[in-house]
Parts: sequence; C-alpha cells; structure tokens
Amino acid sequence: MDIARTDEQKAYQETVRKFCDREVAPHAMAVDRRERSVWETYRALGKAGLLAPHYPEAYGGGGGDVTMLAILMAELSRACSATALSVGASVVLGGNSILRFGTEDHRKKHLPRIARGECITCLGLTEPGAGSDVMSISTRATREGDSWVLRGQKTFITNAPDADLFLIFAVTGEEKGRKTMGEFLIEKGAPGLTPGRPMAKFGMRGSPTSEISLEDVRVPAANVIGDPKRGFAQAMWPLTNERALAPAMAIGVLDYLLERCIRYAGERVQFGRPIGAFQAIQFKIARMRADQLVLTAMLREVISGIESGRDIRQLVSAGKILAGELAVRNSLEAMQLFGGYGYIEETGIERAIRDVKLLDIGAGTTEVQLLVIAKELLGEAAG
Ligand SMILES: Cc1cc2nc3c(=O)[nH]c(=O)nc-3n(C[C@H](O)[C@H](O)[C@H](O)COP(=O)(O)OP(=O)(O)OC[C@H]3O[C@@H](n4cnc5c(N)ncnc54)[C@H](O)[C@@H]3O)c2cc1C
Repeated sequence: MDIARTDEQKAYQETVRKFCDREVAPHAMAVDRRERSVWETYRALGKAGLLAPHYPEAYGGGGGDVTMLAILMAELSRACSATALSVGASVVLGGNSILRFGTEDHRKKHLPRIARGECITCLGLTEPGAGSDVMSISTRATREGDSWVLRGQKTFITNAPDADLFLIFAVTGEEKGRKTMGEFLIEKGAPGLTPGRPMAKFGMRGSPTSEISLEDVRVPAANVIGDPKRGFAQAMWPLTNERALAPAMAIGVLDYLLERCIRYAGERVQFGRPIGAFQAIQFKIARMRADQLVLTAMLREVISGIESGRDIRQLVSAGKILAGELAVRNSLEAMQLFGGYGYIEETGIERAIRDVKLLDIGAGTTEVQLLVIAKELLGEAAG
C-alpha cells in the first residue's frame, strides 16, 4: 500500500507492518472464532508506543499526523479487521472525543492510559430505536445538583463489553423546539451502568459489540464532555473521523486480498496452466489494484482536507461509500478467484467478506452518506 509519504511515516509504517505480521495476522482466525481477545494486540500496541500515533506527546501519543493514524488503521485491517475496528473505536471514537472536547483534566487523566493500551473506551450513540436518525435518541440526562442522572439504553456499541470508559450521548433538554444533547464520561463499574454480553455477528466477530443499559447512572458535572447542549455536533466529530478512515481500512483489506490472490493465481494449476495465465483472473487482480489506487488517492485528498481545515463533508461521505463498495466487491471477487477453496474458512477470504460489509453500515450507512451529499447539493429542496 502507498499511504506513507514522508520518511517518518514510512518508518512508522514499516514498524507497524512488522508488528502486525508478527503479532496480529497469525491470530486473525482465532480472533474471528473468539478464541483470542483483540485486547492482547491492543495492549501490545500500547506497550510498543504504536497505538496513538496522532495524540500529542504531552498526552502520551506519538506526536504524529493523521496519515500515521491512517497507516495504523490500514496495517491493522490488512492483518485483522476486527482488531482495527476495536482499536479505532477506542483510540479514535472515544479518544479523539476526549482530545477535542474534553477538559485538560480529562485529557491528562485518560489519554495517556489509552495510548499505553491500559484503558479501553467506547462511544455510545446508537439506541434500539435510533440509528441513522441520531436526533431521535431517547436516553435522558437530568440535572440533579452537581450531577447528571442518565437513564436509557444503547445498542451495537463497539467495545462496550470490555470498556473501562464509556462516552455516552443523552438528551439534556430542548432549545427552540429542538432536543439538546450532551456527552457524558462514565467509568466502568458506575452503579446502574450495565454493558451487555457480546452479540453474535456476521463479521468483525472478534470485536466485541453489545448493548449498554443505563439505570439512573449518576455522572458528576465534571464528567460532562464539552457543552451539554452541543452533543449532536460533538458526536459528528468522532463519527466524521471514523468515516474519514474507512478508505484506509479498505486499502488494508485490499492489500490482504491482493497478496493472497497473486500468490494463488501463480500456484493453482488448471487446464495445465497456472490460473494467473487466464485473462479473467488477471483482470480481477488488476481491478483490485486499480480500486486500491483510487482509494489511496481518495484517502490522501481526505487527509489533506483535514490538515487544511477545509469543509470536506462531501469528500468524507464519498470516501466512506467508495470504501464499502470497493471492499465488498473485491472480497467477493477474491472468493471467485479462489473457487471452492475461497468458500472454506481456512483460506481467510470468507472472513474478509464478512468483515468488510460493516463498512457499508457502521458510522452511518451508505444511504446516510448519500443523504449528506444530496443535502449539500439540493439544500432546502432535499427536505
Ligand atoms: C458491528 C457494529 C458496530 C457498531 N458500533 C457502534 C458504536 O461503537 N457506537 C455507536 O453509537 N453505534 C455503533 N453501531 C451502530 C451503527 O452506527 C448503526 O447500525 C448505523 O448507523 C445504522 O443504524 P441502524 O442499524 O439503526 O439502521 P437504521 O437507521 O434503522 O437503517 C435501516 C436501513 O434504512 C436506511 N435508512 C435509514 N434512514 C434513511 C433515510 N433517511 N434515507 C434512506 N435510507 C435510510 C439505512 O441506510 C438502512 O439501510 C455499530 C453497528 C454495528 C453493526
């Protein structure tokens, strides 16, 4: 993959790749079967100082840039997508929220522990009745003295079963006829906070996902993240970060598929020739690489937009759509290239198909990304 540009980024990529080849990829199947926890890798990455390349050094991070974070996500996805998902949810969804909207106390207390792999975070926005329609959440936060009391239910929350730190969104009131939302930081073990058991899933099986029940959970006012009325805008920040990294995850998976398909095309002989001699097979591999190059160009554009601070909402949504579509299409094509062997678990191709489908759904579905673009283009006419 060709994400790194500077010497520092290339050196980081080389280090992460070696780490992943040695400590992550060999365990991907065991992680998928839930025989090994993704947190072993999380802790090891933290110990090696590789887990939070983009946090400032003052908070225990690597002091690097967004490209380095994209490299981490791509390399982890190449080795084990479920690990990439859980690392991203903790370091980016949870950690970036604290970095951007937390107080200096929040940052100093939590970010170094996250960067060291000693603290797992999760971000709880989705509810049983509120997915794409984020504003319809019904978890409520009521002010009582110098605390807030939270009551409600979250679902599909990545890392919730094992999290040490929960960032929970709840309705705090109403202003000009619209709900206001706040973001609350809750530590594991808080009375009334009950994460559910890991859900059995189609893919990303090693990344634990569950419900969270909140029954009169008391949160000190000091644990409000940012403005208790601006939670909706705050929620969009980590979600946009996650969407922006979707092309990086797809690039990593395409690397994984390309390596396997190229090798198999040279080894598998039918009709007296390696199947790589057939143009139909060559085209699958060429298309995979072409799509990976398109995603790389897209990722670089997204990163340059983030770094320059310009409005890149359309670009981020377009990248997220492309990442899902190209990753799903190429993983299906890889299975076709492998024939019957692709359908067998041991080959590791069917896992890729199951894992990448989440790119079409998580952090806002493809349809929601299309809505973002349509609304910008059509304005009020889009309703
Ligand atoms: C493995 C996994 C991990 C997740 N991790 C987290 C997490 O860490 N934190 C978190 O808060 N959430 C998380 N989610 C939730 C995820 O963000 C939601 O599943 C997603 O936003 C879609 O919401 P929904 O599932 O309720 O689908 P719905 O919103 O019910 O959508 C159902 C279908 O209707 C379509 N649709 C909805 N509204 C429109 C519309 N206006 N126009 C056109 N089509 C529409 C959707 O695109 C979809 O096809 C996770 C989900 C999964 C599966």
